[in-house]
Amino acid sequence: MSQPVELHGRLFHPFISDKRILERTKELAAELNAVVGLETPLALGILNGAILFHSDLIRAFDFSVEVAYLRTRSYSGMKSSGKVEIEWPDDLSVTGRHVVLVEDIVDSGRTLVALTEELLKRGAARVTSVVLLDKPEARVVPYKPDFSGFEIPNAFVIGYGLDFDGLGRNLSSIYQVVEQ
Ligand code: 5GP
Repeated sequence: MSQPVELHGRLFHPFISDKRILERTKELAAELNAVVGLETPLALGILNGAILFHSDLIRAFDFSVEVAYLRTRSYSGMKSSGKVEIEWPDDLSVTGRHVVLVEDIVDSGRTLVALTEELLKRGAARVTSVVLLDKPEARVVPYKPDFSGFEIPNAFVIGYGLDFDGLGRNLSSIYQVVEQ
């Protein structure tokens, strides 16, 4: 993790190590263990970015959980398009459920605002959001995640599920772009 990585000709330097990510993920799971109680929530992972965070987080839960995934899109390259597309799976029902929304990063806030509205509209009883990374300075719409792993500056990051035009998701640590 000490070496920078290059993707599509851009350089990214080491930012948050895999060890630190896993420690923090276990702390977040412990905080969730305390709020979930006896119900069986639905841990809804947001594709593609949250794949690794979701799989590490659910394995650290003490409570029983159901798992589902949903795809959203708003980013192209290093820029947010401003529009959030939600692909709702035909077999996903959230009526009366406690949904634990698991997301890689909150940036403008648009994705989590749109998703929370959609979940409540479709009858979810309760929505709790857990994000690994939060960029508070990038917010365009007001949004505060219920649980957040790390607050980070407003610079593009990759790794641990996060990509730059398709590359970098498989890196176990997180890297931050080197501005040119
Ligand atoms: P928001 O709707 O809050 O602007 O953005 C949420 C989505 O934008 C995230 O799920 C993620 O896909 C993408 N995103 C925001 N910031 C970054 C970043 O620094 N790196 C990467 N790879 N994706 C980001």
